[in-house]
Amino acid sequence: MLNGPFRLSVAIPVYNEEQVFPELLRRTAAVLDQLPGGPHELVVVDDGSSDRTPELLRAAAARDPRIVGIALSRNFGHQAALSAALDAVSGDATVIMDGDLQDAPEVIPRFLEEFWKGYDVVYARRVRRKESWWLRLAYRAYYRLLSRLADVQLPLDAGDFGLMSRRVVELIRRTPERHRYLRGLRSWVGFRQLGVTVERDARHAGTSKYSLAKLVRLGCDGIFSFSTMPLRAAAVLGALGVAASTLFAAYAVFVRLVLHRGPQGFTALILVITFLSGLNLFFLGVIGEYVGRVFEQVKGRPTYVVGEVVRQGSPGAASEAMTPAQREHAVLPPRDDAAATLRSE
Ligand code: UDP
Ligand code: MG
Repeated sequence: MLNGPFRLSVAIPVYNEEQVFPELLRRTAAVLDQLPGGPHELVVVDDGSSDRTPELLRAAAARDPRIVGIALSRNFGHQAALSAALDAVSGDATVIMDGDLQDAPEVIPRFLEEFWKGYDVVYARRVRRKESWWLRLAYRAYYRLLSRLADVQLPLDAGDFGLMSRRVVELIRRTPERHRYLRGLRSWVGFRQLGVTVERDARHAGTSKYSLAKLVRLGCDGIFSFSTMPLRAAAVLGALGVAASTLFAAYAVFVRLVLHRGPQGFTALILVITFLSGLNLFFLGVIGEYVGRVFEQVKGRPTYVVGEVVRQGSPGAASEAMTPAQREHAVLPPRDDAAATLRSE
């Protein structure tokens, strides 16, 4: 099915991963060395790290012609960094993985086996996560909730780790969504997709770069980008509320006319009022979530800003190294401006 030698791209976003980085490159390069075809490529996006990651990346890219280093202008978040990487890859297939070695690069040949059988997407289904029990429970519950709510069928327990054919990458590039939930977009694209079970390792070193707030935000992106169920839930609950209130009105009339008793229950009244105003505000927030997303989308700001692209032969020549997809999603500082900044220093 391939013309010419097969080329694989590996896309990795990294954020303050100096402790893991050398081992990451070593293990990934060792896997690439074993693959047929080539030259393969390793696109590493530095998501505005404040530690030594950018220097390590620059040195690695200068040493190894397979490495393309992209430094974003600040921290844009995991999914944005991943989008930057996807916009830059050029291989016949692309593997995306985390930079903390929780996704073992040694699994890549297994993905490729399935890819060569004709699958467009091969993703890792995570079994036996090595995280705290409450986080595992939360992930489990979340993925089940999401797969019930979502309009497209999203696989259970699948993270971003996986392989995509070139046409899938190109279709994902063409989606202009600001709040990117890539594993969802990947399912949305369709074609033949397959999950392979992969044991998820513990982080090689360092701590998680996902704060609880970032994790919740990612979770919300999954739900709000792939479902309008929360909006419909308001209508359903509203209808139930009207029905309950009608029944209660009939009951109140009966009590007054037949039993000759006055209305009672101040405490119940307070409870019902606070409950319903809470419910109102809750759904106002849900609507606000969608409106906010429309707002973000309409503003049309780019998903990320590229500060620098480093690869052998063109150190720092960002605009020359840009792919058409990057020109669409990203903003690069005009080179003259950059030169002017340097001059004024
Ligand atoms: N990451 C990133 N930008 C961020 C946060 C994380 O590029 O703002 C990267 C991080 O370096 C890692 C991957 O995304 O390669 C997954 O992050 P992490 O391992 O911290 O998340 P967890 O596995 O704990 O959910
Ligand atoms: Mg991790």
